[in-house]
Amino acid sequence: MIDEHSGIVNMELFEVISETKHEQIVFCHNEDAGLRAIIAIHNTILGPALGGTRMWPYATEEEALRDVLRLSRGMTYKAAVSGLNLGGGKAVIIGDPRKDKSEALFRAFGRFIDTLHGRYITAEDVGIDVNDMEFIFQETNNVVGVHQAHGGSGDPSPYTAYGAIQGIKAALQKKFGDEDLSHYSFAVQGAGHVGLHLVRQFREEGAKVFVTDINEDSVAEAVELGAEAVSLEEIYDVDADVFSPCALGAVVNENTIPRFKFKIVAGPANNQLANNEAGTELEKRGILYAPDYAVNAGGLMNVSIEFEGWNHERALRMSRTIYYNVGKIFKIAERDNIPSWRAADRMAEERIEILGKLKLPHMGKPHRFPGRERQANH
Ligand code: NAD
Repeated sequence: MIDEHSGIVNMELFEVISETKHEQIVFCHNEDAGLRAIIAIHNTILGPALGGTRMWPYATEEEALRDVLRLSRGMTYKAAVSGLNLGGGKAVIIGDPRKDKSEALFRAFGRFIDTLHGRYITAEDVGIDVNDMEFIFQETNNVVGVHQAHGGSGDPSPYTAYGAIQGIKAALQKKFGDEDLSHYSFAVQGAGHVGLHLVRQFREEGAKVFVTDINEDSVAEAVELGAEAVSLEEIYDVDADVFSPCALGAVVNENTIPRFKFKIVAGPANNQLANNEAGTELEKRGILYAPDYAVNAGGLMNVSIEFEGWNHERALRMSRTIYYNVGKIFKIAERDNIPSWRAADRMAEERIEILGKLKLPHMGKPHRFPGRERQANH
């Protein structure tokens, strides 16, 4: 990406960001702290851009930039479709989370976030844990997902799973006109933080569950809850009503779709479709797809209420709106005769467009969240 002789960046950055419609990209550099990070603010029409920080040993700067552009755009759509007053943003720190972490690195990064005066609010993502967030929090209030001791909301995965169940019920209602989980069978791919909560809730409601995971201990935990273990490959072939991806992305693709006996694909994993064509192919085969970013928004909803005062009941209440959001996506798909993946994008775009006419982009002035007040004893 950098020209060997001149040292000048080759990529036409403005071309790239005008294609993706980003508002602002911030390159953060602090040599002493070893910090190289990029903050991407995609869209703040609905509110401050909220999205996690990912730490990853990107092979090239271009790879890091592409990742942050893709992820921040995804957050705009997730917040918009979920009815939240939030925009989309995301950050990446270039480095190996196993050896490049330090207090200085995260504090330097926190200061950069603070310079944005609330236009960007960060949270945890891959490679970052609650201890790292503590250092960021020392430099800026614009962070969610901090430790519960500071009024944070803790582990989001139970709420993500609870929200996903609401999305799954909306899909069952659409497909079968009945959403009683005990009448259906589920193929759960991945029994990690979210997957295991999902298995538990399915089993509590008396549903039949097939499960797989690369980690045998996780499978064993799911089996203890009454799920039936299948191999990593078999999960695509089981005769279940619903395929619920809870692990990797791109698992719905040209190789797996022909094997599906499922009637519905609905689960919390991010980026389930390998590409848009995969979503259209599901539609052609009469398999109902509940768009992933609407189904898995429980985690985002959970952190979004931290500033206003998080509590368990409120987080559950918000997560229940996923039933309505997913149902609305199906209605738009029917209204416009388009696949559900496209309907989700359209629902998000319509909301941003109409509200964008009512107010200007968020300019970093105090937003409707009062911000986390630092307690005297912290
Ligand atoms: P996790 O790492 O705790 O769980 C993922 C599980 O998948 C692990 O148990 C892992 O062993 C398993 N796995 C990995 N590769 C696999 C494979 N090839 N086949 C089967 N299993 C495999 O992660 P998580 O927090 O439970 O998140 C799961 C998914 O949900 C991810 O796509 C994540 O982006 C998405 N998501 C999570 C949250 C949240 O609140 N944690 C919120 C929104 C979206």
